[in-house]
Amino acid sequence: MQALTVFKDHVFCLDTREKHPLIEGLQLSKFADIVLRWDKYRAYLLRTHRMALHKTSDYDGSPFEDFYQIRYEVDDCYTISDDPYISITFESTFDSDFDYTAMASRSTTTAYKRGKSLPPQETKFKVYRAILRRREGDADIWFQHEIARLQRILDDLDAATISLNVWAASDIHMRVLCPAAGCSSRKSPTILLPSQLLVHANSKLSLDAFKDKLTCKSCGARGGIISAA
Ligand SMILES: [Zn+2]
Repeated sequence: MQALTVFKDHVFCLDTREKHPLIEGLQLSKFADIVLRWDKYRAYLLRTHRMALHKTSDYDGSPFEDFYQIRYEVDDCYTISDDPYISITFESTFDSDFDYTAMASRSTTTAYKRGKSLPPQETKFKVYRAILRRREGDADIWFQHEIARLQRILDDLDAATISLNVWAASDIHMRVLCPAAGCSSRKSPTILLPSQLLVHANSKLSLDAFKDKLTCKSCGARGGIISAA
């Protein structure tokens, strides 16, 4: 199997056009979990693993669709990589079972006519499918290992950034973004090295207390949005 599409209750093999039962370790919930945890570590995963998560949306039709592609061997999220290929689609839902909510507005633009966007509304999204492709070898086996590897990376990042103490002992940089939406400093967020965190870790500050103490040098706003870099 070189290319497969994972659905909620079966797998579709794109080479043979055949349906198969679900594959151990490749449940849709795992793909949703990876997408949802990625944002906090976006800058770190790009710097150290050269991986990016690229998002596009289609809000012309119904349901709304959000597409996420995991890109490998890239230095920015704009470069396209197509091997290995992982593309995960979420669809809007009215169901109580959903993965995330986002503000989404219907676009009336068509191929023939530029339309307008309606006011954004809070919309629930649920994972719908994952398309997996690999040029060489057995894609199903390769992706079983790959999905487990990505989850392990995210688990390790969660553990390494759980408190200021452990973060200061890691090799992970801290990216601090001003919480004020219009602040000019948001174009170039502050990067703190673990050695700089150590001073505060030694003072026994919790991660939350540390966040609250941050003050933007540009606009004076208190608090900061922190992520791994
Ligand atoms: Zn600011």
